[in-house]
Amino acid sequence: MSQPVRVRFAPSPTGHLHIGGARTAVYNWAFARRHGGVFVLRIEDTDPERSTEENTQAILRSLAWLGIDHDEGPDVGGPFGPYRQTERAALYAEALERLKERDAVYPCFCTPEELERKREVARARGGFAGYDRTCRALAPEEAERRISEGHPHAWRLKVPLDRGDVVFDDLVRGTMTFPISAIDDLIVVRSDGTPTYNFAVAVDDATMRISHVIRGDDHISNTPKQLLIYEALGYEPPAFAHLSMIWGPDGKRLSKRHGATSVEAYREMGYLPEALLNYLALLGWSLDGETTVIDRQTLIENFSLERVSRNPAIFDAEKLEWLNGVYIRALSPEAFTDRMVPLLENAGLLSSEEAAQRRGWLLELAPLVSERIKRLDEVVPMVRFLFVDAVEIDEKSREAALAKPGAREALEAAAEALKGVADWTSGTIEAALRALPERLGAKPKAVFQAVRVAVTGSTISPPLFESIALLGKERTISRLERALPLAG
Ligand code: GLU
Repeated sequence: MSQPVRVRFAPSPTGHLHIGGARTAVYNWAFARRHGGVFVLRIEDTDPERSTEENTQAILRSLAWLGIDHDEGPDVGGPFGPYRQTERAALYAEALERLKERDAVYPCFCTPEELERKREVARARGGFAGYDRTCRALAPEEAERRISEGHPHAWRLKVPLDRGDVVFDDLVRGTMTFPISAIDDLIVVRSDGTPTYNFAVAVDDATMRISHVIRGDDHISNTPKQLLIYEALGYEPPAFAHLSMIWGPDGKRLSKRHGATSVEAYREMGYLPEALLNYLALLGWSLDGETTVIDRQTLIENFSLERVSRNPAIFDAEKLEWLNGVYIRALSPEAFTDRMVPLLENAGLLSSEEAAQRRGWLLELAPLVSERIKRLDEVVPMVRFLFVDAVEIDEKSREAALAKPGAREALEAAAEALKGVADWTSGTIEAALRALPERLGAKPKAVFQAVRVAVTGSTISPPLFESIALLGKERTISRLERALPLAG
């Protein structure tokens, strides 16, 4: 690449970070890291009604959680700041001056009502719905007179009428051609002095020396307009890569209807950031068409725009959940315990002192849980029985196990057998309980399910013998005895 790679993620803080935005951020970040370039975060907060500082902070938090670190941005600064559009007014004013000097803009005095009327006429005629260029035809002296008299005016770009099509080579979509006749004399600065979106973005990308604009293809129709602004300013444009939309499984644009779409929601549901990062990377890019588990380093070393698909990516929540399970199972007992402890503390099951004192016990518990869940929000319901004095047996589990004939005998026999176990380990517990079904003339599954429900409160639990070992002898026996009145 001839010039240093500088890319940017430019969210508008009108909401929290969503899957689509996060995917764009991941691709920009991976591209920068792959090429030893710079990843810039720019906050596009020009819409004062919908932009909030709270949203900006939430976006920063979500990016940090995913481990997508930026080199320049509002919080870390950098040589091309400021990094919030609302703080860049002087740069837009300067760029407007430059356009005036180059005779590339003209003042437009048409009122909103006049513009609306013109649009209606154009629509009725079925012709070009853009501005009819009334003010472009004003003599310069007349325009100046009106300005000096204080008439409100916006500034419009003089789209070159003799220019051919606007063509660019999109790095994902290939050659894109837009006929010049379809491009409006767009407003660059409104009558209140604020820059329009396309003007601000082009000025920012130019002055921040962005080399590649990688963004969602909902912006593709803006690109020819931005290219004309570059030309008018006399700047080299960056390369463009437009990413396909993300669809839900029904082929409609991903939205709330398809379930959670914000990164924060996935964090709260117990997704690991490394799993979500992996999944986002695969939403439109692939390493080799088949590998699904790709860690951060592999992504950074292999990301390329050539392998980004032009087709819409399908967001598959089940696949994401599956992938999360893969990442959870891959955690060491230490790493899993570190993720589990805050959850237990938040649920009021454990204090931090207890967590430290019982570290060895927690390390034993960790693999029993991590092998059985796909999301961290499954941890607390699954292990609660180990932390409470008595379990509450839900009705469904009672019916499925305790209400069955022979359940009472099974519980009594289990309590008796376990009372005789001196050295309390999962091995000795297993030996004692495995002898029961034959002795009782019952099916092993029926006996063990009854014991499981009595001890854990549910038919779904970590493995039985290990759970009983971790629960301790006294508590196990008292639960078996307390369940007797519920048994058939
Ligand atoms: N601020 C725009 C958005 O949130 C992105 C603009 C761009 O990437 O050029 O969609």
